Amino acid sequence: MNGTRTITLPRLPDPGTIPETMIAQVIRQDRFGDPATAFQAEEIPTPPVGPDDVLVAVMAAGVNYNNVWAARGVPVDVIRSRQRSGEPYDFHIGGSDASGIVQTVGRDVTGIAVGDEVVVHPGVWDMDDPWIAAGRDPMTAPSARIWGYDTNFGSFAQLALAQSHQIMRKAPHLSWEEAAAPTLVGTTAYRMLFGWSGNIVEKDDVVLVWGGSGGLGTQAIQLVRHAGGIPVAVVSSPDRGEHCVLLGAAGWIDRTEYSHWGVPPHWTDAAQREWTAEARRFGKAIWDIVGARRNPAIVFEHSGEATVPTSVFVCDGGGMIVICAGTTGFSAMVDLRYHWTRQKRLQGSHGTNDAQAYAYNDLVCAGDIDPCVGRVVGFDEVGRVHSEMGEGSSPPGNTVVLVGAPEPGLGKSGPRVSL
Ligand code: NAP
Repeated sequence: MNGTRTITLPRLPDPGTIPETMIAQVIRQDRFGDPATAFQAEEIPTPPVGPDDVLVAVMAAGVNYNNVWAARGVPVDVIRSRQRSGEPYDFHIGGSDASGIVQTVGRDVTGIAVGDEVVVHPGVWDMDDPWIAAGRDPMTAPSARIWGYDTNFGSFAQLALAQSHQIMRKAPHLSWEEAAAPTLVGTTAYRMLFGWSGNIVEKDDVVLVWGGSGGLGTQAIQLVRHAGGIPVAVVSSPDRGEHCVLLGAAGWIDRTEYSHWGVPPHWTDAAQREWTAEARRFGKAIWDIVGARRNPAIVFEHSGEATVPTSVFVCDGGGMIVICAGTTGFSAMVDLRYHWTRQKRLQGSHGTNDAQAYAYNDLVCAGDIDPCVGRVVGFDEVGRVHSEMGEGSSPPGNTVVLVGAPEPGLGKSGPRVSL
């Protein structure tokens, strides 16, 4: 199915009014496992709106890998984790990307009005956190969380609850589903590429992008190109590679043509030679695409255990491997010989702060970033599309679920605007 909603959602009251209940795609602990069955549509009481909160009537919701993890209940049981910190709810409403219309605002919220057309960025934190009060990056604060994964009442529901600083204007030239597609992956990619001083993307830098046709990868390729860098994509098939080229990649490497993935043999094991030969062959494929013996100044990592040893091997001296996930596993191995002698940086990165999210959204509003909608599905398909994402069989680009929007293509309110 492409685009139409099969569950008939009850009509929300007019903006400004809060209904007692809403329909949401809900995960419960006794359904943890395959996302296809972990998500079920249920009627849930509308959450209370705090003084600094904004309640958004969701028109469309973007699908991200984090709610594959939430549905499986591993590596973290997000429901139990929140209950431990005092929250009463025995369910999880996920969804870390939304486009929609402001339904109501808390009493202390300024600058956001009922009826505004908005998108939501996924960085959540406690404004009273001493780390933040001291002027440090909120996303490294102990209270920092990812909206609609660590927190409840995300966008797979008629109404989503966000903190006011998460609210950003929706790009007027985008439809609801286009606007809902890229914010989590785009802001994460922005922080990875421009958030780590000393190793931000500069003109002519080679950047290796794992999973180039996926959610993060499609955004990273565009952001690198926009900064004047040279993105080289890694993919698992030629059609995915060609998709990356359309977005601005200088070329692509098919990872299925290599055999050295995962934890390499121990350095005392003679089999390490074969591993190193494959890693060298992979590095040469980067040089062939770039047309010079130039290694990546930045390696954009999220695949984790299967690829980190190669990422560390091919990264340029003084360069950075920046990593935001371990999709293939968490026991990544670093051969320190390649790491310290060439003074490489292995940098963790997570989510976004406000400044990074607003800078990214400015690029989207200016029309500089394609939101890369891969497919649009109905509200009753939230479980199925997460299941496919977990199996790695999603089509290229971002999957979006229509929630309040009755059909695809709506929500464009005029020509592109310049900021
Ligand atoms: P996605 O759309 O499913 O893309 C992931 C890509 O990884 C796929 O396109 C696939 O491309 C590639 N891949 C799969 N298996 C691989 C392997 N064995 N080796 C190398 N590449 C492999 O997911 P996404 O939205 O980009 O997210 C990727 C990961 O980042 C997820 O684990 C997600 O939870 C995490 N994430 C973290 C943050 C954060 O703030 N920390 C934010 C966003 C996402 P090919 O098969 O074509 O190679």
